[in-house]
Amino acid sequence: MLTRSEWEAAQERALEYLDRAGVVMTAQERKQIEISDFGLSNLETFGVQTLTYFNTDRLCAKEIVLFPFQICPEHWHPRVGADPGKEETMRIRWGLVYLYIPGAGIDPLVKERIAHRKEYFSVGKEIVLRPGDQITLEPGTVHWFQAGPEGAVIDDYSSTSRDVLDQFTDPDIVRTTQIVD
Ligand code: ZN
Repeated sequence: MLTRSEWEAAQERALEYLDRAGVVMTAQERKQIEISDFGLSNLETFGVQTLTYFNTDRLCAKEIVLFPFQICPEHWHPRVGADPGKEETMRIRWGLVYLYIPGAGIDPLVKERIAHRKEYFSVGKEIVLRPGDQITLEPGTVHWFQAGPEGAVIDDYSSTSRDVLDQFTDPDIVRTTQIVD
């Protein structure tokens, strides 16, 4: 959970990254940045800040902001009825992102960065993404990612996004952020 003031501070901070990355937003969009702490109440380490431009029955486009070394925990986008699950293309706009997908175990040095929750991370094939780099993840691909030392801004294009149905390896994760006053 996050306090209202933590949520607002994270929104302000995310806006600084989006501005630095040259993202043009309406006044309304500037108020719509969502903060996700994944229910772990440790936003500095585990969290994402998201601005959703649109999310229709077929397509979705978002900006994802990561603070320095912040982690989006290991997850996948499952099949929903006839939909095979979200296909997602991440394109780095600013900063550095370490993306991890199936193909290797997790390097001990990386394990240090995920500290006390390392048992909830299993895929460790590292792909380093810099501005202009992009990658498409097929539906169902297990993945997680972490920003480099300066944070990151990611343009995220996908089929329909159903965040609440995403599956996470960590059983303690709650996808909807709870705000307490
Ligand atoms: Zn994903």
